[in-house]
Amino acid sequence: MRVPPLLPLVCVVLLLTSVSPSSGQTESGLEPAERLLEATPAGRQVLDAAREGRIHWGQGQVSRTEVTATRSVHDGVETVHYETRVIISGSKSPVFQALDLAHELVHALRPKENPFHPTLRAGDYVVRGIEGEGGEAEAIAYECKVGREWVESVKPAGLSQEDRALVRARCGMVWKAAADSEKWKRSFYYLGQHYRDFLERLTRLDPGPVELKWWKDHIDPRTPVFTSAMAQKPYPVALLEEYLELTKKICSRSPASESPFAKRCGTLSGLK
Ligand SMILES: [Zn+2]
Repeated sequence: MRVPPLLPLVCVVLLLTSVSPSSGQTESGLEPAERLLEATPAGRQVLDAAREGRIHWGQGQVSRTEVTATRSVHDGVETVHYETRVIISGSKSPVFQALDLAHELVHALRPKENPFHPTLRAGDYVVRGIEGEGGEAEAIAYECKVGREWVESVKPAGLSQEDRALVRARCGMVWKAAADSEKWKRSFYYLGQHYRDFLERLTRLDPGPVELKWWKDHIDPRTPVFTSAMAQKPYPVALLEEYLELTKKICSRSPASESPFAKRCGTLSGLK
């Protein structure tokens, strides 16, 4: 699916272990949310792309996208297999499930990033997770694009006045902020009380002077605007922790000195 940049809350989780197979699309339990998405062009577009991409979705506790990456090496040739599954909070009303589903499907359809790449760096992982194709900035803008189509149209009939008011409350700020793309991206780097800790952890990962300057210019101690529902932390913090978690998993499985990950694993030594 091609989503126009920035035209088109919750999170991407990258797992390295297998997950149990999800139930078929016909039993997702999210049919009312799917019908709401089908009533708008943006909602229909993302649903069609997800169906075409054979992405599975179903209900769970917290809305999120799980990407399971499995690496195998045969005769020196590395293959990475990806399995993507979207989970939507079962306790939300259909209208919020539909917004979450639009958001998570944007993540699920993003180009896959090889988590095993020996030179994958923390800073790049965080920035791509926010500003890259299918990242948080695009996913939030997209769910609110769906929201705008709902409130500007008489359809879908199933949407009450109260639902419309709730959508306005959730997306009003996004509609306004996303109009200025630079400011919009910047708002993801507001870290509040996590500011100092984030900067310290990042510095210990030895980012180099240019990258460190970039981070100092971008992160902001003001109150966070967007928070990952999964981690309950601002996105840069949640993504940094995700990177550390997956790097630790990789490093615990390969002998440090011989592996192609030696350098990447070495950056972890500064962190405890
Ligand atoms: Zn997200």
